[in-house]
Amino acid sequence: MALNRDSELAGTDATARVFLLRMYDGDRELPYRVCRSARARSIRISIDRDYAITLTLPRGASERQGVDFLESKAAWLRRHLSRQRPRPGLLDFLRRDPAVSLEGRRVPLEVRGNASRTALRFSRGGEKVVLEAVSSDVGEAETVELLRGLAARALVWRTETMAERHGFEVRRISVRDQSSRWGSCSSGGTVSLNWRLLLVPPEGQDYVILHELAHLRHMNHSPRFWNELCRLDPLAREWDRWLTETGEAVMALGRKVKPSAS
Ligand SMILES: [Zn+2]
Repeated sequence: MALNRDSELAGTDATARVFLLRMYDGDRELPYRVCRSARARSIRISIDRDYAITLTLPRGASERQGVDFLESKAAWLRRHLSRQRPRPGLLDFLRRDPAVSLEGRRVPLEVRGNASRTALRFSRGGEKVVLEAVSSDVGEAETVELLRGLAARALVWRTETMAERHGFEVRRISVRDQSSRWGSCSSGGTVSLNWRLLLVPPEGQDYVILHELAHLRHMNHSPRFWNELCRLDPLAREWDRWLTETGEAVMALGRKVKPSAS
């Protein structure tokens, strides 16, 4: 069990000490850390993606009160610890398959260390994307931020290309960090896309873009909508299923999960 080192509580107004909780997990001991936070308004427990437990105490609360609170939340802790499976990390995912889907093809993603600052270098139509890092050990949060920057450009390029090819007019394209949707289309003509579309096969990315473009003509999932979409993309149904089933693992990448009780 790893302790979370970069919790939101690691700011200047919090200090942390680590204790061991002996009661909630059979024979094992669960480490938890206690933070004092000037910002916290009540006693709070959070569990991060590495299963680390943090007990946050506001000013004026005693450690005893905190431990009592922790004990009163035993059932909640048990439930969350048994439900949380280690999520696949974005960095592992990229290590296995170091590429991103750009403009209809897979483009290799190369990591280079020893840069003076971390940046992502890419160009439209380029042969590869280069992640220049200060050390080769780039963190996940930083990688998410860089990929979101890439997605903000690349998914717009692709959507414009597809819109032009099929005669759609998009008012605005926004690239976001949705937690469960690959894309959406507003009645005002804004297409919103999930940055993780960089991480699915190019055909899957194109499918989502075409799906949202088709909504510009049909704001529903009626048979007419599907007819239109299958005309644009004959494999639409297959990709729809793929994104729901296999794509679920990609949807979970690069996300912080922090259940909390207070
Ligand atoms: Zn839809």
